[in-house]
Amino acid sequence: PPARLDALRAGLTDEGVDLVRVLWSDLHGVARGKEIHLDELHRFEDPGLSFCQAVMVTDLAGNPLELPESSGGGWPDAHARIDAGTLTLPGWAPGTAFVLADVLEAAPGHPPLALDPRGLLRRQTERLAARGLRAVAAPELEFYLLAPDPSAPLGWRRYTTFDTAGYTVGASHDPDRMLPLLLRSCRALGLGVQGGNQEFSGGQFEINHTHGPALAAADRAFLFKYAVKEIAAVHGLRATFLGKPFGEAAGSGHHVHLSLVDDGGTNVFADPADDGGLSALGRSFLAGVLEHAPALTAVLNPTVNAYKRLAAPGSLAPTTADWGWDNRTAYVRIPPERGDGTRLEIRVADGAANPYLVIGALLAAGLDGVERGLRPPPPLAPGSTGGGPPLPATFREALDALAASSALARLLGPRFTEVFTAMKRAELARFERAVTDWEFREYTGML
Ligand code: GLU
Ligand code: MG
Ligand code: MG
Repeated sequence: PPARLDALRAGLTDEGVDLVRVLWSDLHGVARGKEIHLDELHRFEDPGLSFCQAVMVTDLAGNPLELPESSGGGWPDAHARIDAGTLTLPGWAPGTAFVLADVLEAAPGHPPLALDPRGLLRRQTERLAARGLRAVAAPELEFYLLAPDPSAPLGWRRYTTFDTAGYTVGASHDPDRMLPLLLRSCRALGLGVQGGNQEFSGGQFEINHTHGPALAAADRAFLFKYAVKEIAAVHGLRATFLGKPFGEAAGSGHHVHLSLVDDGGTNVFADPADDGGLSALGRSFLAGVLEHAPALTAVLNPTVNAYKRLAAPGSLAPTTADWGWDNRTAYVRIPPERGDGTRLEIRVADGAANPYLVIGALLAAGLDGVERGLRPPPPLAPGSTGGGPPLPATFREALDALAASSALARLLGPRFTEVFTAMKRAELARFERAVTDWEFREYTGML
């Protein structure tokens, strides 16, 4: 009986809402969804709103991917089951509510779809729960705002005319005061944003999220990226979280702060008796992340573009799989707070990565380290940089490392890994066929 969604209807009508935007993440982290009239919503209670499975793996140019034959050809239905607890009201789209959905199979009993990023993260939180643990996460997302400019090479330029911002706030680098607007709108949307600033390069911003349970943190990061793009569009601008949109300017990271707490809410990464204040369990989690670093790269840095951010010297993005005490050049920084604030900051992912997959894959790798009692290599010497094994240097190397890692495939689910790799290899193949502006300029001397 459609009781749950009917209960929603009464409350939303009072709020003046008549449309519900049902959103879920595809494998890229792009929001897919449908807008439903509130009075029709109850029809989608069980098994959910049906849509073509190809939506989950369509490339960013809009072409559905030919999946390996094991996918069950013919593009069957998937169902988006509304998670009523995620309902929010976006102040900039009056009369509309947003709600997130889990994606289920069409098969009898509607098991979770292996390709649902939210489901993948949920499975990792269940693995932790079976050990009496919960993950706490806080994403930090950097992005650029762009303004239309017909004279710019691609028709868009960075939002301010300043090349640098250098961690500041105010009107000179933000003429339309977009940062306060984004902060207020995202706060009103319940995204738990704390504050923000103009980041190192002109037109680049960072907005920080408060920490919370891993699934809620990923939901908020996913919705945050969507909200920022939506709000920018409403104001005639565009937002991009791409890892390295401009060769000469700072990249956009998607850092993730992670810790684990036990059933009583005590941070199990903290150990005042340890030299560094980091528990044996925290060290094993760290060791798991570092051991899986090569295979994780394709998930955390899932574009051909990402490797330009990771290669830029002095950019505060890592190039090797290492860790250090409050060292921002490391793959994993241990921030200086101790006690409840003891945590890892994993700095490798960029803004184009899917927040559900970033947090899910990091938890899978870290928990594997805990289960196997792994010990991390020594930390970077204070002030030094680049200590561990090099990360994959290109997207091709990263995809090969993921395909070669049966261990990570087992943790993430073989079906997910198979389809994700196939989808991203198809993307790479399209890139390799494309002729770039750089080639034309370099080899013809024109442009
Ligand atoms: N923009 C840097 C990156 O690509 C991070 C700068 C910072 O530490 O905030 O990861
Ligand atoms: Mg930053
Ligand atoms: Mg950070």
